[in-house]
Amino acid sequence: MKTSAFFALLATSLWSVSAAPSAADLEKRKAGLRLIKTAPKDAGRWVTEEEKITIYHSKDIGFVDITDIKDSDVLRILSTPDGEDTFSAQAVTYPTAVSRQSQVNALLPLVSTTQPQSWLTSLTNFYNRHYKSTYGTQAGDWLFNTVKSVASVNSAITVTKFTHSGWNQPSIIAKIPGNSTNLVIVSAHYDSTGGSSSAKSPGADDNGSGVVVILEALRVLANNKFKGKDTLEFHFYAAEEGGLLGSAAVFANYKSTGKTVLAVVNQDMAGYSPSGKISIYTDYVDSSLTAYTRVVATAYTGATTSDKCGYGCSDHASARSNGFPAAYVCDEPIKTSTPYIHTANDALSTIQWPTILRHAKFTVAFLVEASYL
Ligand SMILES: [Zn+2]
Repeated sequence: MKTSAFFALLATSLWSVSAAPSAADLEKRKAGLRLIKTAPKDAGRWVTEEEKITIYHSKDIGFVDITDIKDSDVLRILSTPDGEDTFSAQAVTYPTAVSRQSQVNALLPLVSTTQPQSWLTSLTNFYNRHYKSTYGTQAGDWLFNTVKSVASVNSAITVTKFTHSGWNQPSIIAKIPGNSTNLVIVSAHYDSTGGSSSAKSPGADDNGSGVVVILEALRVLANNKFKGKDTLEFHFYAAEEGGLLGSAAVFANYKSTGKTVLAVVNQDMAGYSPSGKISIYTDYVDSSLTAYTRVVATAYTGATTSDKCGYGCSDHASARSNGFPAAYVCDEPIKTSTPYIHTANDALSTIQWPTILRHAKFTVAFLVEASYL
């Protein structure tokens, strides 16, 4: 996750981004520079991969890498300030109360931190999971094999690598087919960053925590041969820290292939919570889905908190800019969130396991409830 406390200061340009690159832009691309936006009214600036980390991550400035985004509708949404939306996500009417209590309550006691502890140990043992490093690719291989192994108890579940052009780290998608092809998606990015592309970055809270939370939900649903009305997908994104690159490619593909997506709930940081409450963020999201997400979280985990994290905060922004309803669930409001984000100190030892358990239970509850949307 990134926070954009200072994004307003960086809104230097008022014209919107053009989809057609100029000759000068093509030269910059060839030189390996990347075009990033730090705010809706930021026309974009060309930076090196290293500057993404040393200038923007280091100051907690959120950004979206738009170098490869060709879709003018997506660029228009990325250039529209939050709350001034002139677009509508795929229209879904969400319930105002939960309705699958007996089914959810039978599954919640099966949610545990035993496997998450083992998985997060493995994830944090990679020196880093930078999307362009060999460690980041190795982490992708490990995660793909681990997701496949978790899913293998139910032959109906498919696990695929979504490969990207420009870097080797794949995104990974597990699917539990329902009676309908309409999709309900939970997501978490698995890459990490820690001060430079070659720096140690265990990425325990950001975002090994989100990864093990949705993996635990997959384990419980797979073991119980869960099948709902809607199809459930578990997305593990590459390259979030590069400017939401993995999720942008996945949702561009979903848009161009005409998929129907009823909900995307992204979790980025799910393992450190002094407040002991799930935090549901309210900016650059679908407000109806966010309200429904809060209904489910409150019903099964108790009171929640709120915050805003600004522009380019995490992968829900990619779902939203491609026209899909998206919500963002975090472990804590920003002020009291982990102080170790994007450093070598974002270590396994800082993880609070009751927080992981809370988010994993929320994820199981959300998937079961939402699978009947
Ligand atoms: Zn993150």
